[in-house]
Amino acid sequence: MKVDYHLHLEEGPYSFRWLDRTNTALDWFHPIDATKHTRDWLQASYARLHARLERGAYDAAWIDLYLEEALRKGLKEVGIVEHLYRFQEARSYFERHMELGDSELGRLQTTWLQQVCTENVDDFVAAIQTAKPRWAEKGVQLRLGIEADYFTGGEAELTQLLNLANWDYVIGSVHFIDGWGFDNPDVSHLFEQYDLPDLYRWFFGVVESMIRSGLFDIAAHLDNLKVFRYRPDEALLLPLYEQIAAALHETDTATEVNAGLYYRYPVREMCPSPAFIEVLRKHGVVFTLSSDAHFPDDIGKYVAENAAMLKQQGVGEIATFAARQRVMKPLQA
Ligand SMILES: [Zn+2]
Ligand SMILES: [Zn+2]
Repeated sequence: MKVDYHLHLEEGPYSFRWLDRTNTALDWFHPIDATKHTRDWLQASYARLHARLERGAYDAAWIDLYLEEALRKGLKEVGIVEHLYRFQEARSYFERHMELGDSELGRLQTTWLQQVCTENVDDFVAAIQTAKPRWAEKGVQLRLGIEADYFTGGEAELTQLLNLANWDYVIGSVHFIDGWGFDNPDVSHLFEQYDLPDLYRWFFGVVESMIRSGLFDIAAHLDNLKVFRYRPDEALLLPLYEQIAAALHETDTATEVNAGLYYRYPVREMCPSPAFIEVLRKHGVVFTLSSDAHFPDDIGKYVAENAAMLKQQGVGEIATFAARQRVMKPLQA
């Protein structure tokens, strides 16, 4: 069974870079019949992008580009998620836990939240639920997921937010430490302020609380703190890997092999790292696979490679989800 359980339909900020990347995705499926950078080419691209923006990311035509690529890559099950911070219903949760004060970081993150927090839960849920039968007809099971940021002490509010829909599964993520979104390249210099072993201890402490909160089916990209290559000697991290593996095992929570950092960020490494995967395997932690795609042409990216890697490690089954129930299925490399 080939699956991709973590991918996104859209993500701001809505810059010209975003527009250009969207155009690349559209071109992958329907190349424009004109020489690139001619007036005709730009006019055709402009019309197409205008339509894409007007209809939004929950439009069937956009969602079904993911299906087209899923079929091409032989995926049998696909889980589409939104980041919780995309939903206006969750704005106050993020306002409470992110650094939004009068500092360089605060001002930057205030702008960012304004740029990305634009959608409604019901619109997303309706789009995925209506797409499910369309996809099933073509032989691909579509699942409805959510990727929710965990903040220490935010469990009660998060529980309420997660009750806004009947998700097939809930992914838990840590993208913030003490209100700082550490995966934002504009503030990556803040890593310099920390003692890295201390920072990693702190981070994995939050990840462990997230796992033990019992709110999540999948713990996402376990070591994404390495995103900009700030990482101490991994030998120092092995006890922390053990601590996380034990928490996942004891709470029977799955994790993922996520390719996002490998093809999109400076670290160019899968999450978790090979050494981390070895520790997780030893504890019998179960995995699912994901591309963390943000555009339809990226769906399924490196899923086959990571499936083969898991198989080599002796993994025979992969975690899939429906209506918050985990179902283990044979892993196909
Ligand atoms: Zn994430
Ligand atoms: Zn994600």
